[in-house]
Amino acid sequence: MAVLVSGASIAGLSLAYWLDRFGFEVTVVERAPALRVSGSPIDIRGDALGVAAEMGIRDAIHDQRVSTSGRDAFTTWVDSLGQPIAVLPNEYATDSPDDIEIARDNLIAILHDAIGSGVEFVYNDSIETVVDTGRVVEVALASGRSARYDHVVGADGIHSTVREAIFGPEHQYRKHLDTYTALVDLPLGSGTAGESVTFSAPGKMFCINDYGHRTIGFMAARTPEVEYDNRDLADQKRVLTGLLAGESGWRSEFLLESIAETDRLYFDSVSQVHMPGWSRGRVALIGDAAHAASLFSGRGTSLAMIGAHHLATELAAAPSEHTEAFGRYEQHMRPRVATAQEGVSEARDFLVPATESQLQARNQRFAVDAAH
Ligand SMILES: Cc1cc2nc3c(=O)[nH]c(=O)nc-3n(C[C@H](O)[C@H](O)[C@H](O)COP(=O)(O)OP(=O)(O)OC[C@H]3O[C@@H](n4cnc5c(N)ncnc54)[C@H](O)[C@@H]3O)c2cc1C
Repeated sequence: MAVLVSGASIAGLSLAYWLDRFGFEVTVVERAPALRVSGSPIDIRGDALGVAAEMGIRDAIHDQRVSTSGRDAFTTWVDSLGQPIAVLPNEYATDSPDDIEIARDNLIAILHDAIGSGVEFVYNDSIETVVDTGRVVEVALASGRSARYDHVVGADGIHSTVREAIFGPEHQYRKHLDTYTALVDLPLGSGTAGESVTFSAPGKMFCINDYGHRTIGFMAARTPEVEYDNRDLADQKRVLTGLLAGESGWRSEFLLESIAETDRLYFDSVSQVHMPGWSRGRVALIGDAAHAASLFSGRGTSLAMIGAHHLATELAAAPSEHTEAFGRYEQHMRPRVATAQEGVSEARDFLVPATESQLQARNQRFAVDAAH
């Protein structure tokens, strides 16, 4: 059976691994010219650690984990002069001491290396049309290549092309949480050694995370949805600098300069995806394409790995009964997704308070004096 997977990130790579292992013929199409390796460290939690063990990559993940255990706090909030005013203790951001935090690029490389040589990767291409005839799925790629598959799986993130083609326009399913985030690599050592430091202004967040081997700027701004081209770096920079402009406290100007200079920026809406069903006919969705919980949940990566495992397992168990297989995959995942999607607005208000009074309330709750 031939399966086309759209998207070569956490969900798509995990699915390719499992489908290949179960004997499917797998093609992965990725719109970017290569694996997209930017992003800050991400968490692997709960059952995703068991999935990683079954994939034989748990030790590699463990060996390459980011060590934040020596950190005094998850982050320290500072005032405009850089003086500490509040501290978020580590335990607010973790479920269990077994959680593993790993650089996103390292996880992508580990997943990719685990995949058998039989999987075909097509970069710099994207699904243009997808037609489910009932017996096969006919796909044409933007490059002009066309082929038929038994199944197509959209693992192509919150702006999924497969979802748009089969289930309808993005605005029906994606809910913008009134926030945009950005991540940018900074010169090594430009932060506070081993620590995370954050400056907040109403509706704006400027954070520098030092992981020893890497220093990452993390910014966020509260705003309703903005029109821009999410594939155009210059347009992303224009919107982001516009959203963060007018702030000069702490190291905000340094971060704004870093945005102007970078050629590798992650910038996107903080969104959740809510859909009544994750499959239609021979086409299914996994990961953020189906059920994004948002980056504030800290669970998107784990959900993507667990979902890929369930989908492949169910399809392998009943290849000729894909409707039932997709249904069982969804049943397994729904409760986890509901849990991950809950409480995200509170996390957002806490990390990126919209108003001065929300900001003061948070700072008082975690005031440096109160923490000691
Ligand atoms: C570059 C990048 C950086 C990220 N950084 C962070 C981070 O620091 N912290 C965090 O919590 N989350 C981050 N995320 C999101 C995180 O990876 C996901 O929330 C989670 O891991 C679920 O992954 P996913 O594979 O479902 O979706 P995603 O990781 O969003 O991957 C979707 C993939 O599909 C590809 N794609 C999109 N459209 C098409 C198309 N039409 N055809 C083919 N391919 C397509 C994208 O290029 C991407 O590789 C990042 C995502 C990306 C893409």
